[in-house]
Amino acid sequence: MIDLDALRRETADLSSSSLIEWAAATYGSAGVAFASSLGAEDQVITHMISGLSAGVPVFTLDTGRLFAETYDLLDVTRKRYGMDISVYFPDAGRVEQMVRSRGPNLFYESVENRKLCCHVRKVEPLERALSGLKAWIVGLREEQAVTRQGMSRIDWDEKNGLVRISPLADWSEDRVWEFIREHDVPYHRLHDSGFRSIGCAPCTRAVGNGEDARAGRWWWEDPHHKECGLHAGDPQFEPSATGRQSDRSAAGDGSTPFGIQRLNS
Ligand code: SF4
Repeated sequence: MIDLDALRRETADLSSSSLIEWAAATYGSAGVAFASSLGAEDQVITHMISGLSAGVPVFTLDTGRLFAETYDLLDVTRKRYGMDISVYFPDAGRVEQMVRSRGPNLFYESVENRKLCCHVRKVEPLERALSGLKAWIVGLREEQAVTRQGMSRIDWDEKNGLVRISPLADWSEDRVWEFIREHDVPYHRLHDSGFRSIGCAPCTRAVGNGEDARAGRWWWEDPHHKECGLHAGDPQFEPSATGRQSDRSAAGDGSTPFGIQRLNS
């Protein structure tokens, strides 16, 4: 039985980077891994991991529907940090069966179809990536979406049966971008075009001023259902009635948030 309160007390005074180091020391390189989607928060964590003496394995999921710019960033990140980022793919047979029976763009037709696609392309590969681990590190922040309110830096992930460590849980979006600027961290080019949360190409759009950071993900759905299954299922992530809006405007006009330089390539 995991004593979450004890873990939270033990790590309460640690910086985000030290929390990652603590995870590596506590669970070992075979017991913990970092799941990166190559978003801004994840790039911050990758940068932190690159500076640690303890190795933390990094992996990402290739759904087969990612933006071309995401692959560019994966390539740049691997080279910049000399890091081996493991890539997990969906099962080809399940993708073929799904597309044959429901079409390539099934996700627009119903929430059920969208969840099926996320399950086949994301959840099942994630389960393989997490197999055998005791904990995983993620780039979630509490203020990102209504579905993430109430989260802590250390939670129990009921769905995956693991400790979930979110080093940036209490970070603001401004702080993320300040870190990226200060450390010249490579980031996704589409962040310069108003994309604040980036997933698969057909399910992601830029957001407007005053919109929630994840408003551009599955924008045709009710915001209270907008998780892909990677992080849903935990009772403490049950959404509250109202969403918190970020107070930062999106750079929907193509300008760079905070004047940060474009992705180094
Ligand atoms: Fe499929 Fe869209 Fe989910 Fe990607 S985000 S797995 S394309 S439904």
